[in-house]
Amino acid sequence: MLVDKILDLLKQEIPQIEFERYIKQLSYDEEASRSDIAIFYAPNPLVARWVKTRYGDKLSHLFELKTGIKPQIVVEVKNNKKRVLTQQTSENSIDTGVSKNSSKSTILNPSYTFESFVVGSSNQFAYTAALRVAEKPGVQYNPLFIYGGAGLGKTHLLHAIGNFNLARNKQVIFTSLEQFMNQFTHHLRNGTMDRFRDKYRSCDILLLDDIQFLSRKEETQKELFHTFNELHGNGKQIVMTSDQHPKKIAGLEERLRSRFEWGLIVDIQPPELETKIAIIKKKCELNGIHIDNEIVNYIAANMGNNIREIEGIIIQLNAFANMMNQSITLEFAKNVVKNQIKERSENITIDDIVKVASRELNVKPSEIKSKSRSRKIVEARRIVIYLARSLTPNSMPSLAQYFGMKDHTAVSHAMKKINEMIDKDENFKAKIEELSHKITSATVE
Ligand code: ADP
Ligand code: MG
Repeated sequence: MLVDKILDLLKQEIPQIEFERYIKQLSYDEEASRSDIAIFYAPNPLVARWVKTRYGDKLSHLFELKTGIKPQIVVEVKNNKKRVLTQQTSENSIDTGVSKNSSKSTILNPSYTFESFVVGSSNQFAYTAALRVAEKPGVQYNPLFIYGGAGLGKTHLLHAIGNFNLARNKQVIFTSLEQFMNQFTHHLRNGTMDRFRDKYRSCDILLLDDIQFLSRKEETQKELFHTFNELHGNGKQIVMTSDQHPKKIAGLEERLRSRFEWGLIVDIQPPELETKIAIIKKKCELNGIHIDNEIVNYIAANMGNNIREIEGIIIQLNAFANMMNQSITLEFAKNVVKNQIKERSENITIDDIVKVASRELNVKPSEIKSKSRSRKIVEARRIVIYLARSLTPNSMPSLAQYFGMKDHTAVSHAMKKINEMIDKDENFKAKIEELSHKITSATVE
């Protein structure tokens, strides 16, 4: 259904926490809506106002991309929901947009620009390289490959390059690797590969987000290889992002990997405290939210490095303050931050990790927690520590305590060892990824 596709697109653009908290609560009035007016129902005025002010324009724009008509977006409060909107799996939400027009209709978030990006030492190389490429696409760094952890601004920079060039009337395509793959399989199945190729090989700038999902997707890799050659050969710009360096993407064809390394590879590091503070201030300013410095500092110091999560906190604070018609106090902020950290940690515990890992690695849970120095057990213990550190918010001292270690240096040593092995050994890396996947899916159920 159209509206599901629209929401699926929206989902890719906005913080997940926002989508879960607000968009998922909407229902769509299919009967009353027309091509020029889209009517949604929200459970309360807060959600209605929030969606309307924050996402009204964007929703309208997404409808326009799909239908060619820009509808008015109405969000009303209603209790008897007509139809709860379902989240679509990416498989059945294929954007088949292949016409010439649609390649221009990349879904770029207009607020992700170079101006709204805060530069600090953690991201300054990536920022500068992105800006260069935006100013002179296809000339200097081609391809540009940006990698770094979640929520550090990779997608933001891609959009910034796109927005910059849309304004100069360039053909820009922004796509996540997942979307690229879905479209590819769709067109392959329908015998319309010509259209797919026309679209991807005729743009001036191809922005490919989250390329790590290429891992072990052989057919998609092959297609991308040809797309890459065609564009690169014609002096068209390619920019990619990934959570890791191309060398570390497991199951990536050598010829693609080497092409990814032809141009410039830059990383984004987690922001230092100062940059975090500056980002929070910028976000508040852009969204017309006022938060005292004391609270800004508190959030920056206590939240992790994922800016998306930090944004979620700001939005939540502001929403509550509006609802209660009061200003945001430090005490209130502390509660929200605490809950967020708790929420995350509640999902996965160290015990869950020990349970799954001991089963998969063929050691006993009691052995993992013991002081045994047998090689196999030491390795299993290190893996558990590594996973606990990545999947739970436990600090190094609290992990040391859990495993009966002297202090956090033992934990940091274990982390270092595992990181080294991941760097060295593809199979080991794949094993860790698989374990991590098993743990997260086991706790979600
Ligand atoms: P990634 O793609 O690296 O996971 P995103 O680009 O989606 O991260 O960024 C997550 C959120 O954090 C976005 O809303 C983005 O605007 C914001 N953000 C990240 N880094 C910065 C920065 N340096 N300045 C301003 N906003 C940032
Ligand atoms: Mg991203």
